[in-house]
Amino acid sequence: MITTALAGTSVLTTTPAVAAGHRSGGVAITRSVGAIQVICLLDASGPFTLSSPATAFPNATEADWSAARLIDPEAFGPDGRWHLSFQCFVVAGPGSRITLVDTGVGPAGSPASSWAPVPGRLPQALAEIGVDVRDVDLVVQTHLHSDHIGWAVHPSGEPVFPRARYVVQRAEIAALEAAGSALVPYVVDPLRRTGQLTEADGRTRLAGGHGRSGHRITAVPTPGHTAGHQSVVVDDQGARMVMTGDVLVHAVQLANPAVTYQYEGDPELAHATRRTLLNDARRRHAVLAAAHLNRPFVNVC
Ligand SMILES: [Zn+2]
Repeated sequence: MITTALAGTSVLTTTPAVAAGHRSGGVAITRSVGAIQVICLLDASGPFTLSSPATAFPNATEADWSAARLIDPEAFGPDGRWHLSFQCFVVAGPGSRITLVDTGVGPAGSPASSWAPVPGRLPQALAEIGVDVRDVDLVVQTHLHSDHIGWAVHPSGEPVFPRARYVVQRAEIAALEAAGSALVPYVVDPLRRTGQLTEADGRTRLAGGHGRSGHRITAVPTPGHTAGHQSVVVDDQGARMVMTGDVLVHAVQLANPAVTYQYEGDPELAHATRRTLLNDARRRHAVLAAAHLNRPFVNVC
């Protein structure tokens, strides 16, 4: 069974620099993982412009769609299109450490602006919770699709987060380089030039790791959507959250992990990864944090 939960909006106490804030048209959605707070920030939302739901998820059945409608009703617009959110997650803690998972669609002029429904507003959303771009210590890019790297760098090439280390899987960059992707000169080269890029090789501990119940932030390879896709696992005091990235992009893939998505690089591998991630989450009673669900935090049980 899958349930969604819109969590409370409590004032953060672990990080004085961060206060409760507002989402566009609503309040910031915050969940606790032990003493660590995770805040979902909405960069953009609107209809998917590239294809219809039936084309985007070609093997979804009527039963899958019915189940998905219960999990994320806002995904089903009156116009028949897929309505989705483009979300980033702030991990506030341990201590004053600020980690940002993904950087949204970006501003007008970003690579996603040709198809994203609206320009993004992440810097403003960060400011609303009391986080300046200079406060961000670590940026984890789950993958290098245009709707996840939008605020990594300005269109001018300057990094948006001047103090941050940016973590990307080496396999992700290698695949883009092999394909001659325009995203290499747009985002990879500028971060290399400033020395801010860290290319991770597989599972990587990003913070913590002392003792069984202590806090840990870990990057975990979850390939399939892209070759070097990674998810972020936050553990503290026995609680766990998994920021999925695009292991699942729509509630229909929660309803049935076998539902494939048109833009998955390797659909078979993506399915296997999704199944494993969901099974692990159930076993560990983990909360999922999904980039594109309109109700981002999902309890799987
Ligand atoms: Zn995406």
